[in-house]
Amino acid sequence: MSKLIDGKAFADRLCDKLADEVASLKQDKQLSPCIAVVLVGEDPASATYVGAKVRRCAQLGIDSRSHHLDDTTSEAELLSLIDDLNNDPEVHGILVQLPVPKQINSDAVINAISPDKDVDGFHISNVGALSVGQNNMVPCTPLGSLMLLQDELGDLSGKNAVVVGRSNIVGKPMAALLLQQSCTVTIAHSRTQDLPEVCRGADILVAAVGIPHFIQGDWIKPGATVIDVGINRIYDEALEKNRLVGDVDFDAAKEVAGAITPVPGGVGPMTIACLMYNTVRAAKNQAGIA
Ligand code: NAD
Repeated sequence: MSKLIDGKAFADRLCDKLADEVASLKQDKQLSPCIAVVLVGEDPASATYVGAKVRRCAQLGIDSRSHHLDDTTSEAELLSLIDDLNNDPEVHGILVQLPVPKQINSDAVINAISPDKDVDGFHISNVGALSVGQNNMVPCTPLGSLMLLQDELGDLSGKNAVVVGRSNIVGKPMAALLLQQSCTVTIAHSRTQDLPEVCRGADILVAAVGIPHFIQGDWIKPGATVIDVGINRIYDEALEKNRLVGDVDFDAAKEVAGAITPVPGGVGPMTIACLMYNTVRAAKNQAGIA
């Protein structure tokens, strides 16, 4: 039986520390960290994510400004709002919830955000900074996954890490972070040959595929540490309702792995906690506080 990696507990501890830091920034430095959250359209999942982020801000004492634009908003209108937020000294972080409606080019939007306010870490200059080890804003989900791995394993140097998935928001930045920790990193994806065998070589296995229960128990090296990034909604016949599952067949994997993140309660809470972490860092950077 593997150890459960409690991402929720870790995220709560990180947020408690950040709340203390925010309180002292306000009191001692007259600095009030603030994030602007932009939602375009009526996608219910996006609205849920934005709501969770805004609630977490409130718990930590971080100011948040919500901008909800309707789904006919043009790219020019959104870029104009981003320009205003870039130039507002009271706003330290800008998050545009993705996906945006189809008339808007998401790359243009991401790259219009000032890199220092890009708390999602998706701006092309932050991606470049990560790839050469000059990390500025680092994407939240991989950053949170790395924190859990370091907490569990300590030094990651020399470990074989396999990241399944090569998206810009999870797989690629995860691989870059693990490489910075001197892991031997393999990025697997939909064209990888003999994926089960590739996975069996992993001391650290990160699943970011988007297919429920995709990674099988017998693909996992005994004792490996498994980070399940997947969030998939499936209908559970027994419960007669939807529930969230990861990209790993958890019940089989927990018999083999050394440690594993559950879904929910693993990586998910870390993503929001790291958004808070990036916002506080962005505010301090912009105020010239080390
Ligand atoms: P994506 O669809 O952009 O990328 C999926 C990747 O999986 C692709 O690179 C693809 O090559 C790979 N893939 C697809 N089919 C495959 C196959 N048969 N074999 C091997 N690789 C395959 O997805 P994403 O945005 O990276 O998200 C991945 C998962 O993580 C989703 O379940 C998503 O909901 C979840 N997610 C969770 C969080 C969080 O906060 N925990 C954040 C972002 C994404």
